Formats: sequence, C-alpha cells, structure tokens
Amino acid sequence: MTDTTTVRADLHPGRHRGGPFRAGRWRGRWQASAGDRESMTRSADVVIIGAGLAGAATAYSLTRLSNLRVVILEQEDRPGLHASGQNAAMVRQTVTHAALLPLVVEGARFARRPEPGFPPVGYRACGSLILGEGDHAARLRAAVATLKTHSVRAAWVTPDVVSAMVPFATGARCDGAAHCRDDGVVDVAALLEGYLRQAVSRGARLLTGRRVTAVLRRQGRVYAVDTGSERVRTPSVVNAAGAWSREVAALARAADVPLRSTRRHLLVTPPVEGASAWPIVWDDSHGLYFRPESGGLLVSPCDEANHEPGVPAVDCGILAALAEKAAAFMPRLGDLAVRRIWAGLRTLAPDGAFVIGEDPRLRGFHWCAGLGGHGVTASAAVGRLTAEAVLGLSESPAFSPLRFTHRLPAA
Ligand SMILES: Cc1cc2nc3c(=O)[nH]c(=O)nc-3n(C[C@H](O)[C@H](O)[C@H](O)COP(=O)(O)OP(=O)(O)OC[C@H]3O[C@@H](n4cnc5c(N)ncnc54)[C@H](O)[C@@H]3O)c2cc1C
Repeated sequence: MTDTTTVRADLHPGRHRGGPFRAGRWRGRWQASAGDRESMTRSADVVIIGAGLAGAATAYSLTRLSNLRVVILEQEDRPGLHASGQNAAMVRQTVTHAALLPLVVEGARFARRPEPGFPPVGYRACGSLILGEGDHAARLRAAVATLKTHSVRAAWVTPDVVSAMVPFATGARCDGAAHCRDDGVVDVAALLEGYLRQAVSRGARLLTGRRVTAVLRRQGRVYAVDTGSERVRTPSVVNAAGAWSREVAALARAADVPLRSTRRHLLVTPPVEGASAWPIVWDDSHGLYFRPESGGLLVSPCDEANHEPGVPAVDCGILAALAEKAAAFMPRLGDLAVRRIWAGLRTLAPDGAFVIGEDPRLRGFHWCAGLGGHGVTASAAVGRLTAEAVLGLSESPAFSPLRFTHRLPAA
C-alpha cells in the first residue's frame, strides 16, 4: 500500500511531496498503534467512514457543534489518498446547479478566510474565467447574477476580454465567460489536515488502516461497525467513503443510491511564459480546463469514464483525446508538452447534487457522498450540513438520499 501511494504522491504536483501526507508525519501523530488497538475506543457517538474531505469536514463541524465522541475510520494508512489527494485544488463558484451554488459560495468563503484558529490553507486568489457557448452561456450568465446576490465578485465578459486576460485562450470557442475574482486555488493537503487537526484537538479520534467491513443493524437502526478485528458500537454512522460509498451502503443494507465513480485525468506542463499570473480557465461547454501550476499549467480534458472504486490507472490514450479537444476548442493548448499525468475518481449522483442526510432504510446511517467535482470548494459547507443532519438540527431535501428511493420495499 505504501509503495503505491508513494508513486501516486510523486505524480501529484507539489502538494503531496514533502507535504502533510508524508507517511511518517501522519503515522506518528494520528495512527493508532498496535497497542492502541487493544485500548481503542470501543464505542462512539458517531463513526465517520472515510478520511477524505467529506469525512474530515464532517468531523470538524461535528466537534465544533457538539461534544459527541467522534471516531473516523480510514481504510488507508493515511488520510486523503483518494479523490481528496488527487484533484485540481480549484475553488470555483460559478456552477450552474442551483442547489449547489450556495454551498460552493459558503465553502469558498471558508477557503478564503477559515475560522479563527484554523491553520493556514494556502489560498491563492487567481480568479476564474468559465467559458460558455449557446445555452450554456445563458446558464453561466444566470449563475453570475446569482453569485452577485451572494456578494461574490462576478461579471460576464466578452471573448475579447478573455483573450486579453489570457492570450492562451485566444481562439477558444465561446460566447463569453463568467469572470469570478473570488475564485482561486487552495492547498488541499493543508485544508484536509486543518479539518482533521481541529477535530482531533476537540477529541475526535482518527484511526487509519481500518477498513470498515460490516455495518451492523438492529430493528432498522445502526448499532455498530466492524473493521475485521475490531468492533465500534455506535448509534450513528456517516458514510463518507467517496467512490466506495455505494459499497459501504450495501454493507449496511441501506438504500442503493445510484452513485457512479468516474475517472478524470489531470496533467501538468513544463513552464509556460506568463502562466503564473493567469486565472483558472474552464471551457464549460466543451469540457476542458487549465490553471497555473508550478510555472506551467495544470490541464484536464474533463473526461468522465465510469470506473470501479480503487486507484485508477492512467490511460495514455487520454493525450490524443486532449489534443483533439484542444484543436477544436482551445487551439494553443495542443502545443504543450506533458511533465506529469495522473487520474482520480469523481463520484456523482445522477442529478449532480450531493447526497447528504439520513438513509431512508436505516436510522442512524447518514450519507455524505457524491461530491462530484465540487468537494474541495464546498467541503466546509458539506461538513456543516452533514453534521447538522446527524445532530437533527437541519435537513436538506435537495440533497437527501430519499430523492432516489421513493416507494422502497422494507429492508
Ligand atoms: C481529477 C479530479 C479533479 C478534481 N478537481 C476538483 C477541484 O478543482 N475543485 C473541487 O472543488 N473539487 C475537485 N474534485 C472533487 C473532489 O476532489 C472530491 O469531490 C472530494 O475529494 C471527494 O471527497 P470524499 O471525501 O468524498 O472522497 P475521498 O477523498 O475519496 O475519500 C473517501 C475516503 O473513504 C475511505 N474509505 C472508503 N471505503 C472505506 C471503508 N470501507 N472503510 C474505511 N475507509 C474507507 C477511502 O480510503 C477514502 O480515503 C476533483 C476530483 C478529481 C478526481
């Protein structure tokens, strides 16, 4: 396991190498040792399955809002090895999904100015240009209008302005772009570590190398989880298992929410003159983005092939697909060399909204999944909403798993 993660860390630009995901640093401070296993908590008020951004932000909010005893179980040796350690680190608020928009705004606000006491998250305010054509442009313009009502600095700009701001986008096929000055890039490792560190400082326990293998139920309620060698009794479980969320739900005989995990490639180019000063540029109509990274560009062809949960291999055919897309929609991208390439899994619900809330078939089993391509930006809001749902403080019908499970047969 360690060898694989080292290889992936080396593929990822900057953030992993020497960053908080180094094995020694996490192991030393967070992972329960063999001795700990003997004495480890045998009961908890809430067990969170998964130490990616979803689970970490939920632990952060739960320990902020309550005195509940929280245990986070992570199957890997370190947190954040899957989607939360493989993403493009963009904080992007121009989204066309009406229910998601307030959450990305809330999350972006947190990334720009975390709460007092939260460690620095390395936020860089580069801004964004989200390009659109036809109907898509109309939806982006509507998003700009909504962002303004949230006091986000956003405006619609013409293709000429796009080319003037980013010469590399000259020739892009679009009717204009949403320019959001309040978007940027965050140090995701620092953000994840911040959530976990704060939660642990308030009493949460993070136990790595613990794969949940069973979720036990009695009379329609959760009462424990097993990790193979250990059992943790608990009345509340949060399913924050990312690409594995559907499998974890199946362990619990909870609702079968039709989440699918999809592979997306990212690549980094050698230095490109002027790139460090550019904003995020995302052609939302044709699926292609780039942003500054280490003097060059981080680029994605926005691929979305179904992929089973796990560690996705790089498909080298993606370079030809990218070249083809670039030639059609962003001609100057086609000329670039590639220094590094990797892939990660995004987990999506059919309607594109998150899945947050109590399971309709199993009381005490809460979902925090399907964060798609917004889990970095929206994590603070997602954690808050999930914690509020667990505590019974609020419900969010737009995100509830109920929306997929009308007229369920009894479990
Ligand atoms: C290529 C790519 C680019 C992206 N770019 C952006 C971006 O720029 N901006 C943005 O906002 N979002 C972006 N995202 C989305 C974002 O990364 C995800 O939404 C987010 O990381 C999902 O977090 P998560 O905690 O749900 O999942 P994960 O990070 O995958 O965490 C789930 C965790 O659960 C653990 N787990 C699973 N099963 C078990 C089990 N049985 N027992 C114990 N532990 C278990 C896993 O090991 C894993 O650590 C991108 C995603 C990808 C793949």
